[in-house]
Amino acid sequence: MKKLIERIEKDGNVLGDGVLKVDSFLTHQVDPELMQEIGTIFAKRFQAEQITKVVTIEASGIAPALFTAQTLGVPMIFARKAKSLTMDEELLTASVYSFTKQVTSQVSISRKFLSAEDNVLIIDDFLANGQAAKGLIELCQQAGATVAGIGIVIEKSFQSGRALLEEMSIPVVSLARIASLSEGKATFLEGDA
Ligand code: 5GP
Repeated sequence: MKKLIERIEKDGNVLGDGVLKVDSFLTHQVDPELMQEIGTIFAKRFQAEQITKVVTIEASGIAPALFTAQTLGVPMIFARKAKSLTMDEELLTASVYSFTKQVTSQVSISRKFLSAEDNVLIIDDFLANGQAAKGLIELCQQAGATVAGIGIVIEKSFQSGRALLEEMSIPVVSLARIASLSEGKATFLEGDA
């Protein structure tokens, strides 16, 4: 996605340890117009799949996931990282090791929102080693739901996440694919859209 790559080049900051900071349009302050375009592209790419739910993980997956769900006309569910007192129903839970926070946390979705009839599209802001996506896939599997595909806003292709998801035979669509973040600069591969 040309516009996204240009935005990363303009506003992204490369941190020393293979991390890209995009807090001015995606992970803290959010550009709604760009998110809407991203949602439209994901929805188009998966429109033949009869998606019934869009699933993401809080917090930064929510914006692109919501616009995708709106375009597809289905609900969006975000997995919670901390258990809320109001989550008193039966939960689907998985452990996720966070690449940026370097801690393992439990993520959960109320069982009542996912069932064996669901055909899920997973959306997330970043794909690094694939642990967040793997955790979301596990939640869907616990519910007996099918995962039809995964939409990623920014894939760091020099990490192992994409290979992990492809091994599971789940189609991955990444809008920007970063080949390297060395010398303070992002270089890109051909994106999927
Ligand atoms: P993974 O689970 O694929 O290893 O990492 C993906 C998760 O870690 C994403 O949900 C995202 O929140 C975070 N993440 C991974 N790499 C980056 C990065 O370079 N920049 C930012 N801002 N978040 C990242």
